[in-house]
Amino acid sequence: MKIVAVLYPCPEDPTTVDSRDGAPQQLLGCADNALGLQDFVEGQGHELVVTTDREGGELEENLGDAEVLITTPFWPVYVTREMMDRAPNLKLMLLAGVGSDNMDLAAAADKNITIAEQTGSNITSVAEHSVMQILTLVRNYMPAYKDVVNGGWNIGEIARRSHDLEDKTVGLVGMGRIGQKTAMRLRPFDVRMLYYDVTKLNTIDEYTLGLRYADIDEMIPLCDVISIHAPLTPVTRSLFNRERLFDMKRGVHIVNTARGAIVDRDALVEALEEGHLGGYAGDVWDSQPAPSDHPWRTMPNHAMTPHVSGTSLEAQARYAEGVRRCLQAYFNGEPIDRDRIIVEGGEIMSLSYKYAYEEA
Ligand code: NAD
Repeated sequence: MKIVAVLYPCPEDPTTVDSRDGAPQQLLGCADNALGLQDFVEGQGHELVVTTDREGGELEENLGDAEVLITTPFWPVYVTREMMDRAPNLKLMLLAGVGSDNMDLAAAADKNITIAEQTGSNITSVAEHSVMQILTLVRNYMPAYKDVVNGGWNIGEIARRSHDLEDKTVGLVGMGRIGQKTAMRLRPFDVRMLYYDVTKLNTIDEYTLGLRYADIDEMIPLCDVISIHAPLTPVTRSLFNRERLFDMKRGVHIVNTARGAIVDRDALVEALEEGHLGGYAGDVWDSQPAPSDHPWRTMPNHAMTPHVSGTSLEAQARYAEGVRRCLQAYFNGEPIDRDRIIVEGGEIMSLSYKYAYEEA
């Protein structure tokens, strides 16, 4: 069978700088290293075509007879219904990562294509990035760093926007795996934590994590910091619209490591330019790779990164192993682990996406 993997381009030197485990390793997640799958796939008598073409080119040339497509949120193929029409043999789409919103889930269900992702593979990586970006904004790190690089010593200018995180109210939107891990990491900072999710945690978990549940619109005006951890669905698209952004306390810091389209692109720029928001950070953009003129690259008081939080070296190892497990199960005609399945048997199985698609 033919498997097509679309992965991000390798840097000039794809060896990692990490020698803690002995010899430097290859960067698994980039195209030339193919998630370490080449020998594994060929050893089982199958063909693996790896490309960096997210549309057209080698992707299009190979779609026609591909049975499996591997894609990743960091360098996504936006798999539309029309693209699936051009791939009549496609049976399985595997996401090397978490958050399958780059694929048309309803179309995949209609065409009986299975979608699976690498659930849990990068929760620590994303939670750490979220906490890092919360501190980056609250402590006003970016201007302080730039001041040093530019030869300055402007203490007052930096200090006038720099706070302690302690005693602030943090609102977490989405309290699944990453939301909970972020809460665990924020707890020692002695913050007040509120959360909103479509599913309320049980009281013991709320107590252990130090969380109080609130409806989203009740929570928003109370927060000094908001961190977003919900999937992108028809319900969460533009959840943070102009009205919600301007309902926030003046000076709020927002971190979004979930998906860019959860926040209204232009309303965010307006809220930052007017000084209503204190700052915005995250690593997710609508669309990706973000065009060079994307307004979030140049808006005031941001600390954005490209989509890297979930692809640390440790995360790559975990999601590469997850993809290998999914492929092995598929080759053996065995079921793929239940908790990785997003679409199967003509149905959207993941509850977050299922309810949102039904509501839409
Ligand atoms: P998860 O499924 O464990 O948790 C998602 C949570 O969001 C669930 O508790 C769910 O009930 C909740 N939710 C669903 N719809 C909601 C809504 N309308 N409002 C509020 N909450 C809602 O997933 P996870 O592993 O915690 O990942 C969360 C999201 O983070 C992913 O869907 C993905 O988009 C994103 N993510 C980003 C990166 C990255 O590298 N930046 C990496 C992994 C995941």
